[in-house]
Amino acid sequence: MNPPSSLPFPASAASTAASPAARRRLQPWVLACAGLALAVLGAALGQRLSERAGLAQLAAVANERLELYAAGLEAELGRHAYLPGLLSVDTDVQALLARPDSEALRTQTRIKLARVRVRSGLSLAFISDAHGRVLASSNNYNPQGSIADTETAQEPDAEARRLALRLGERLLSGPGQFFAAHEDNGSSDYFLVQPLRRAGQRWGQIVLKLNLAPLEATWVDQGLRSQGEKLLVVDGQGVVIMSSVPTWKYHMLGSSSAEQRAALRASGHYAGTLEDTLGLDMKALSQQQNALVQLPSWDPARPQQRHRLLAQELAVVPLGLRLVTLSDPAEVWRQARFVAWGGAALGAALSLLALYLLARRRAHAELERQVSERTAELQLSNAELKRQIAQRLQAEDELMQAAKLAVLGQMSAGISHEINQPLTALRALSRNSLLLLDKGRYTTVGENLGAIDAMVERMSQITRQLKSFARKAQSASAPVSLAAAVEGARVLLGHRIEAEQVRLELAIAPELRVNCEANRLEQVLINLMANALDAMAELPLAEDGSPRPRHLRLSTAPFEDESKSPGERLGRVWVRVCDSGAGMAPEQMARLFEPFFTTKPPGQGLGLGLVISAKIVHEFGGTLRARPAGRSDDVGSLPGMCFEFDLELAPADYR
Ligand code: ADP
Repeated sequence: MNPPSSLPFPASAASTAASPAARRRLQPWVLACAGLALAVLGAALGQRLSERAGLAQLAAVANERLELYAAGLEAELGRHAYLPGLLSVDTDVQALLARPDSEALRTQTRIKLARVRVRSGLSLAFISDAHGRVLASSNNYNPQGSIADTETAQEPDAEARRLALRLGERLLSGPGQFFAAHEDNGSSDYFLVQPLRRAGQRWGQIVLKLNLAPLEATWVDQGLRSQGEKLLVVDGQGVVIMSSVPTWKYHMLGSSSAEQRAALRASGHYAGTLEDTLGLDMKALSQQQNALVQLPSWDPARPQQRHRLLAQELAVVPLGLRLVTLSDPAEVWRQARFVAWGGAALGAALSLLALYLLARRRAHAELERQVSERTAELQLSNAELKRQIAQRLQAEDELMQAAKLAVLGQMSAGISHEINQPLTALRALSRNSLLLLDKGRYTTVGENLGAIDAMVERMSQITRQLKSFARKAQSASAPVSLAAAVEGARVLLGHRIEAEQVRLELAIAPELRVNCEANRLEQVLINLMANALDAMAELPLAEDGSPRPRHLRLSTAPFEDESKSPGERLGRVWVRVCDSGAGMAPEQMARLFEPFFTTKPPGQGLGLGLVISAKIVHEFGGTLRARPAGRSDDVGSLPGMCFEFDLELAPADYR
C-alpha cells in the first residue's frame, strides 16, 4: 500500500534542496556570534546614548550655575560701583585735595573714609594725589574717630602706601576696576579707582579695595558640598584669580611664554610665580561646548592623579572676566555603565528572541515539509487505494459469479439426479400410455398424462430456479417474500436434503416480506443452507452407534431497530439458519469471514461463500454473524452452528 520510497515527491524534493542552505545559515555558532555582537552593540549604543544625554544634562545644569555665579559676582562687585563717584564730590575730600598738607583735613578725611569702609564692607579706601602719594586712608582710624591701634598710629596710611607702591601706574592710569592678589594671604582684591579732578586737571584719585575672600569662601564651600563642580574665575590675562579649588589660584589657565609670565609678575597683580598651568586650551574651550578636559589633581594626597571634567565657559564682559565651571561626569559615566549593561542585556534578549523565532520558523518549515511530504504520500496511496478498490469490486463481481457457478457445479450432480428421475419416469409413463392407448384404456392414459404434467412442472421449476440463480444480480431493493426465497433455495437443495435424510424445519411466516433483492437473498440462503448440509454430511455416529440426527432449521425473529429515533424506526427481522452439524473450533470461527478460508477438501470449497454472503447482507443494510447453536429455538439442544442475518421488514409487515 505504501508508495515506493524512490518515487519523486515535488514538495519533498524542493525542501531537501532548500534545507542544506538553511542549515548552513542557521549554524549555532553563527547565531551565538550574532547574539554576542548584538549584546556588544547594545552595550556600546546604550553607553553612548546614556553618556551623551547625561553630559548634556550636566552641561545644562552647569550652565545654569554659571549664570548664577556670574550674577552673584556682578552683584557683589556692582554693589560698590556708586561709592567712588559719591566720595569724589565729598567736600572734605575736595578740601583735602585743595590743601593736601593740612593734617587736620587728612585726619578728618581718614575718619570719613574709615566710616565709609566699615559701612560698605570695603577692606580699604584711600585718596592719593596725582603722583600716587597717599593723602588719607581708612585703615588707621576706626569709625568713632579714634586711632585703631598703636602700630597704625605711628605709621598712618602704611597699608595704603604699600599698595600704592605695588600697583603704582595701574592706580594712576585712569578710572576703572581691576583685580589684584592680596599681598599677605593671596586672596583676591577688587579695586575701584575714581580720578579726582579740579579745573580739568587730575589732582588725585580715590581707590577702594574690596576683598573677595568671603565670596570665594562660599564657592569653596559650595564646591565641597557639591563635590562634582569646580568654579574658576579667569581674568583677561588668562590667570585664575578666583577658584573653588584654592590650589589652582594664580595658575595660568593655558600655556604662556616666560616673557608673558615675567610681565604679569611685574604687574604686581598676582601672588605666586605663575609658573604652573592648568593646561586648558582657552580657545578650544570657548569654541566647543561641553568639552571634556584633563586637569591636574586638586587632592594633595594624590598629586599624580588627573581628572577628566566637563568644562563650561561664560564670559562676563563688563568685568573682563571669564567664568569656567568644571563638572565631574563620574555619575554620568556610572549611569552610562548601568545603561550599557542594560543595553547588553537587551541585545542578548533580542538575540535570544531572534533565536527562538528562528527555531520556531525552522520547526514550522520542517513541519510544513513533513506535511506536504505526507500529503503527497497520502494522495499517492489514495489513488492506489482507489485503483485497488476498483480492481476488487471487479474481482468481487467476478468471484460472486464464479462462486455461483461453483455452487451450480456442486449441485449439478444432484440436479441431474433430480431431472433424470422424472425423465426415466416420463419415458416409462409415455411408453405405458402408448400401450394403454392401443388397448383403449383412455382413463388410465389421462391419469398418466396428468402425472407427466406434474413431473414436467417440477423439472421446469428446478431449471427456472437455476436460471435465476445464475443470472447476474440487479441491485434494486424491493419487498421480497422471505418464504418464497427460502422455498427457492429449498428446491435447489431439495435432492440433498432428501438424500442425506436431513430434517428440514421452516419456521417462517408466509406473509413476511423484507426489503432486499430476491435473487441475492436466495443466494445467501443457498450458501448458508449448503454449508449447513456440508457440516452435517459426515457426522460421526453417536456413542450408542445410532446415526446422529441431522436437523436444519430456518426461523425468523422480528425486532425493533433501537439505533433509530422512534419516528423513523422500522422493524427488522433476524433470519436464522441453524444446523446440528459438527460445529466449529473457536479459532476457525475467528477466520470465518476471511476470503478463501475453507476446511473443505480441494475442489469442494472455495472459501468465498460466507464472504460473499456477508457482503450481500451488508448491502441490504444488515449484518451476517455466526455463533454456536444451542439455544432452544435454534435446533433444540443439539450442537451445531447458527448463522443469522438481519433484514429490514417491508413497511406493510411492520406493525
Ligand atoms: P466453503 O463453503 O467454500 O468452504 P464458506 O465461506 O461458505 O466457504 O465457508 C467457509 C468455512 O466455514 C467452511 O469451509 C466451513 O469450514 C465453515 N462453515 C461454514 N458453515 C458452517 C456450518 N454451518 N457448520 C460448520 N462449519 C461451517
